[in-house]
Amino acid sequence: MLTSQELIHYSRHIILPEIDEHGQEKLKQSSVLIVGAGGLGSPVAMYLAAAGIGKLIIADHDTVERSNLQRQIIHSLDSIGNAKVESAKDTLEKLNPWLRVELIETKLQEESLNTAVSGADLIVDCSDNYPTRFALNQACVGVGKPLVSGSAVQFNGQVAVLNQSPHSACYHCLYQDGLFNEESCESQGVLAPVVGVIGSLQATEALKVLLGIGNSLDSRLLIYDALNATFKTIGITKDPACEVCSHS
Ligand SMILES: [Zn+2]
Repeated sequence: MLTSQELIHYSRHIILPEIDEHGQEKLKQSSVLIVGAGGLGSPVAMYLAAAGIGKLIIADHDTVERSNLQRQIIHSLDSIGNAKVESAKDTLEKLNPWLRVELIETKLQEESLNTAVSGADLIVDCSDNYPTRFALNQACVGVGKPLVSGSAVQFNGQVAVLNQSPHSACYHCLYQDGLFNEESCESQGVLAPVVGVIGSLQATEALKVLLGIGNSLDSRLLIYDALNATFKTIGITKDPACEVCSHS
């Protein structure tokens, strides 16, 4: 049951017939794992916290650096040198008094990764490297959890919902391991609000999947080109021979 304060806090959600009190209660019962508390993780965590997700599990093993503040809006000057997860928690707790935040400050690998994924209803990939994306995808396929994937570099970004059902494509269906050179904001740069656009889309898709409303980006890739101000969406075909999801 939502308290009278919560009913006021979330009134702009509750007034939406697609959400109402029942949906808001559902969000309160939900837990989301956010991998990465950087450029994408900032808007994802802040919007999911503000929107009333009951529990956020935030994983990141970096500390806040000055060069992060150009786009990682969950952190501030006071947090430079502190763990990103601690800095994120401080901001989130000011946004929502009912939110429970769990922090994972070590690098997620195999067992710890599987445990973290198992403990959440939905996973949002806000990481900045391919090995993490592939490992996270594998863990999500393993336990059948939906994955909202996002990435942004330079003036471009993309979002997809993967593994939402047994019929959905996974990240490995979209990209094969080893085909990519590492591209990151560090080496290539990124326009600050592009991570905000992509992170906000990831948060939106996460809420839709948890609420079971609308048509998600399930097995679709949305591509944003900021310089030309265009969005396009392409289908992702589930690979029947995918070495990650074809046996699950
Ligand atoms: Zn696959």
